[in-house]
Amino acid sequence: MNSTSTVEPFPADLVIEVVPRDLSAYRAGDCGIPYAFVFDSGVPGPRVAINALTHGNEFCGMVAVCAMLDAGLRPERGSLSLSFANVAAYESFDIAAPFESRQLVHNLNRIWSDAELAGDQRSPEFDRAREMRSLFDPAYALLDIHSTSQAVPPFFVYSPSTGNAASGALADGIGLPPVQLLMPGGMQTGTPLIEYGPFSPKRVRSASSTEPFAPGAGGAVVVECGQHFAARAGVVATQVSLAFLRQTGVLSDASASSWSIRLTGVDVFAEPRTPPRRYQLLSTHVIQTPHLRWARPLQGMEVFAKDELIGHDGELEIRSPCDDCTIFMPLASYRPAVPGREGAYFTRPVA
Ligand SMILES: [Zn+2]
Repeated sequence: MNSTSTVEPFPADLVIEVVPRDLSAYRAGDCGIPYAFVFDSGVPGPRVAINALTHGNEFCGMVAVCAMLDAGLRPERGSLSLSFANVAAYESFDIAAPFESRQLVHNLNRIWSDAELAGDQRSPEFDRAREMRSLFDPAYALLDIHSTSQAVPPFFVYSPSTGNAASGALADGIGLPPVQLLMPGGMQTGTPLIEYGPFSPKRVRSASSTEPFAPGAGGAVVVECGQHFAARAGVVATQVSLAFLRQTGVLSDASASSWSIRLTGVDVFAEPRTPPRRYQLLSTHVIQTPHLRWARPLQGMEVFAKDELIGHDGELEIRSPCDDCTIFMPLASYRPAVPGREGAYFTRPVA
C-alpha cells in the first residue's frame, strides 16, 4: 500500500467469524479434477453444478459445499457436481490481510471466454479454469456461490439473454434471496463462470432441440450471500444450495426440507417468500486511479438521483446516470483502489 492511497483502516466492526478450514481431505476429488466431485443418482434427471471459492476469500460457499460433502448429501434425480474452485488463493489467506486472498494473479470470475481459455495465458487461475471446464460443460444448471466485501443483504446475479429466460426463472424459482442483479447481454468487464460455454448469453440455442436437460438450458446464477467472513453467509449459502437442488428437481421437496433442518437448523422452505426485486446493470465503474473516493459512505443499495455526485476517481467526477440509480458492490473505504478493477455497479430497479 503506498503512502498516497486513500485507504482507511479496517472498520472496528469487521469481525472474522469464519476462517479457512483444511480442505486436504477433499483434494483428490472423485472425478479426475482436484477438489471436485460428481455424484450420479442413477435416476434420469438434470446434471447440476454447485461451485464454491471462485474467489478465495469468499468462505460461505466453502461452508455450504463442506456441509453437503461432510453430511453425504446425494442427488435423488440426475447428478450433482460439487467443487471448490480457487483453493490456491483460499490457502493463501492471511488474517492480517483478509481481502488479499480473493485471487493469486487473475480474477477467476472474469476469464471464462472460449477465446481466453483457448489462449496461451498462464496463471494459477487460468490453469484452474482450464482444468475445471469439463465439470461445467455438461451442466444443465449452475449455482456459483460468492460473498461481498461489505455487509449487504444477499442477492442473485445473472445474465438474462434474448431467447433464454432460464437464468431468471432459476433465480425466481430458488426464491431466496429476493434481490436480483441482472446483467443483460453479460458482464461488461470480462467473462464470469455463469457466462461460460453452455451458459453464454451469446450462445444461440436450437429451438428444435428435444434433448432433455441440455447443457446450459437450466440457467446459471451467482448468489452473493453476505459479508465474506460472516457466519450467517455460510447459512445463506447452504440454504440457497438446497433451494437450487429442490428447484432443479435433484432433491424432492421433502428431502430439501429435511436437509435444511439438518444442515441449518431450520426448514427454510417453510418460511414465507418475498417477491423478487430486480435491478438492471446500467454501467460498471472501472477504477481509473488509486484515488477513488465516494461522495458519501457506500455499502451497497444506496440510491442516487440523476446527475447526483457519487464520487471522484482522481480528476474524474462520477455522477449518477439516472434517477433511482442503485449501487451494487461499491469499493469499501478500507480497500485499496486498484486501477482496472471494478469500483461499483450502477443499476436501476426494473419490474
Ligand atoms: Zn466473488
